[in-house]
Amino acid sequence: MIAAPAVVGLGGNVGDVVAAFRRALQSLDQTDGVRVISASSLLRTAPVGGPEQDDFLNAAVLLAVELEPAELLTVLRELEADEGRTRDERWGPRTLDLDLLWWADQSLETTALTVPHPGLIERRFALQPLVEVAPSALAADGRRYADILSTLPSEGVEVIGGPSLVYDPTSTDNGGNESCRT
Ligand code: ATP
Ligand code: CA
Ligand code: CA
Repeated sequence: MIAAPAVVGLGGNVGDVVAAFRRALQSLDQTDGVRVISASSLLRTAPVGGPEQDDFLNAAVLLAVELEPAELLTVLRELEADEGRTRDERWGPRTLDLDLLWWADQSLETTALTVPHPGLIERRFALQPLVEVAPSALAADGRRYADILSTLPSEGVEVIGGPSLVYDPTSTDNGGNESCRT
């Protein structure tokens, strides 16, 4: 199977969300048939929809995937569960949300999965990091996502860190560099 480029959006607003992002991306990269290519910057974003709640952190990751889209969705749901994700209230607070935003050359709609993600083109918190990791990605109608992004209002989304904060392949993720201690 030839690896397909796909973009997954990450979000969360409960607990240590950056740590959850890093664990999830490390696990994704270790999943058979999935490779992490690059991560976006880290965004702080105002909640959209749902109850009054804390700001979210968001990011996106470009993957090379040798699975079917439905198989990738299953992996994403397992990673959410690993982080204690519960589904209580629609658009409510969560430790980790992993949405399959885009899959090269694929539009699909089943009961479990719609690709591209239906909220993508109206959500700056999803579209901005997608364009960062996949600048030439095209929507099904041939428009460039970068062009769609430029039509969205910019408020509510702030870059607070670079990609290495979201995914650092060289990190062992033990929270510190022991060898620096004297
Ligand atoms: P939203 O989908 O509006 O961002 P949400 O992420 O809070 O809301 P969830 O409770 O995480 O919603 O997921 C609801 C359902 O959406 C899941 O059961 C999943 O099957 C379905 N779904 C459909 N398309 C996708 C997709 N592209 N990525 C992730 N889940 C999807
Ligand atoms: Ca979502
Ligand atoms: Ca989701």
